[in-house]
Amino acid sequence: MVSAQEIERLSNAFESKTPQEIIRWAVDQFWPEIALSSSFQTQSMPLLHMVTQIKRGMPVFFLDTGYHFWETLIFRERIASEWKINVIDLYREARWDIFVRQHTRSLPLDDPNLCCYLHKVQPMQKALKDIKAWISGIRRDQTAERARAGILEPQEGGLLKINPLLNWTRADVKRYAEEHHLPSHPLFEKGYRSVGCAPCTIPIGLDQDERAGRWAGRGKTECGLHTDMFRRRELSEVKGEFHTDVSRVE
Ligand code: SF4
Repeated sequence: MVSAQEIERLSNAFESKTPQEIIRWAVDQFWPEIALSSSFQTQSMPLLHMVTQIKRGMPVFFLDTGYHFWETLIFRERIASEWKINVIDLYREARWDIFVRQHTRSLPLDDPNLCCYLHKVQPMQKALKDIKAWISGIRRDQTAERARAGILEPQEGGLLKINPLLNWTRADVKRYAEEHHLPSHPLFEKGYRSVGCAPCTIPIGLDQDERAGRWAGRGKTECGLHTDMFRRRELSEVKGEFHTDVSRVE
C-alpha cells in the first residue's frame, strides 16, 4: 500500500524518469493487479510495445464499442496475435442493449456523451474495480484536459492511474515507433491521425492537431475516461451531461 504523500512524491519524481522506468516501478508494486488500456491505434504502439517487453501477460483492456472501423478490429487481432498480448474486450452493460439497438445510428450523433458513457466509461469503471493499477497512454500535448494530468493519479476505490507517456510528444512517439519498426494502423496513412469510433472520426491534414478528427465540430474532445466523468460512479451523478432522459431508458 502506497500512501497519498508517497504517491505525490513519486509522481513528481517520475517527471524526469523514462516511461520504461515508470512501468517497471508499477509492475513491481502492483503485479498481478495491474492492467493497461489501449485503443490499438498507431500512437498506442510504443506503450503496448514497452509493456509487452517488460511484463508479458499484462491484461490489455480494449473497449469494443460496436462502432469501430473494421480496420481497427483487424489491426487489433494482428497485433494481439503477433505480440502475444492478453487482450480483454470490454462491452457495454446488457441492460442498455435494447436502447442502443433502437438508436444505433443516431446515438453517437445526437448524444455522444451518453454513447461514450455507455460504451467506454461504464465498462472501464467495471473492469478496473478488480485491480489496483491502470496504465494509460495519455500525453500532455494531446488536449487541454490531459495537459493538467499527473503521472500518478489516485482514483476512487484505491485505484491508481499511471500515465508513463505523459511527458512524451507526438515526435517522441514517432521516434520510438521508427527505432523499433512498429506497425501502423491501416487508416493512419489515409489521414486518420487519431482513430476512434467510425461515426466520430474523420481524416485530417498533417499540420492539424492530432485529435482534431475526433468529434470534429461537435464541441467534444474527450470520451470521459480521462475527465472528471470517470470519477463519478453513479449514473445519477452524470446524467445531467446527456441529452437523453436516461431515467426513462433504464
Ligand atoms: S466515440 Fe462516438 S461511437 Fe464511440 S462511444 Fe463515443 S460517441 Fe459512441
